[in-house]
Amino acid sequence: MSYNVTLIPGDGIGPEISEAARRVIDATGVKINWEVVEAGEAVIPQYGTPLPEYVLESVRKNRVALKGPLTTPIGKGFRSVNVTLRQELNLYANVRPARTLPGIATRYEKVDLIVVRENTEDLYAGIEHRVGRDAAESIKIITREASERIVRYAFDLAVKQGRKKVTAVHKANIMKLSDGLFLECARDVARDYPGIEFEDMIVDAMCMKLVQSPEKYDVLVLPNLYGDIVSDLCAGLVGGLGVAPGANIGLESAVFEPVHGSAPKHAGLNRVNPLAIILSGVMMLQHLGENQAAKRVANAVTAVLEEGKSLTYDLGGSSSTQQMADAIIAGIA
Ligand code: NAD
Repeated sequence: MSYNVTLIPGDGIGPEISEAARRVIDATGVKINWEVVEAGEAVIPQYGTPLPEYVLESVRKNRVALKGPLTTPIGKGFRSVNVTLRQELNLYANVRPARTLPGIATRYEKVDLIVVRENTEDLYAGIEHRVGRDAAESIKIITREASERIVRYAFDLAVKQGRKKVTAVHKANIMKLSDGLFLECARDVARDYPGIEFEDMIVDAMCMKLVQSPEKYDVLVLPNLYGDIVSDLCAGLVGGLGVAPGANIGLESAVFEPVHGSAPKHAGLNRVNPLAIILSGVMMLQHLGENQAAKRVANAVTAVLEEGKSLTYDLGGSSSTQQMADAIIAGIA
């Protein structure tokens, strides 16, 4: 059995962490034919766009991709390739687990959360314009279809993983219509899952409670923008962006990528933490049904963290990206 998987190395720190993840995954013996495709600013001169059609075609064909981060110009320039890719492929569920990892010192002990972020609409619909010189307008789109779909995904995930509670996060006290619709959909869907506790929480209160007592929360489901922000907060609870994996799941395809971005100031230095993309690779192996291989990588990661000798700077060590990957590879039984 072999799998065709699209690899989008990304830019900034993307190529070095993608290389590390690819080596780790290959070390499991699972046969993967990597189809490497490039996107981002660097391909604009050749293709006239940062997201060439052949990249989308590759993911549509292979149905599974591992992706490094891609830089988005701030306040100007082309639209985020990451957002466009998710929208073009209708990867509606962004799943970002945040779990306490052994050997990583944090303020918390028993965090085991999954952030389920709606990935296709909200303020990320990209509809905005200037109104004259001194004002600008961004349109927030919330639909019943996308809201019900993401909440159902969160509940189904809770059932599948034997989890106890789903918390819908919103700001419906202020955005009574848009977030109000999201909350209405969440309450409707929750009725179909009597075995799972349901609650809702206003996003600002949610941030405070996550910082005070994150162990009280289980599965969070959020519209796109709150999901993006809260998932970085959750990454901070368990050791930072260097250890936060993610998956973008659609009906036809799935793209696995770390929560973090391209961290340009670290690019090419072989010093950043490869764990976020390696753990995204673990999620990918599970998605492929390669549960044993996924477990072997996860166990090897745990062993490296517990030993504490081959850690990158962000975890208090001085190992390079590739040295940490080598240590994980050495531990894959
Ligand atoms: P970032 O996540 O790239 O980096 C923020 C900081 O987090 C870094 O300076 C670094 O200190 C730390 N960090 C991130 N990844 C790390 C790792 N693997 N190991 C150790 N430390 C790590 O966020 P940013 O600086 O706000 O964004 C940089 C670029 O990335 C922007 O262009 C942004 O649009 C893009 N971005 C892309 C994605 C994606 O591809 N999905 C996601 C987020 C941001």
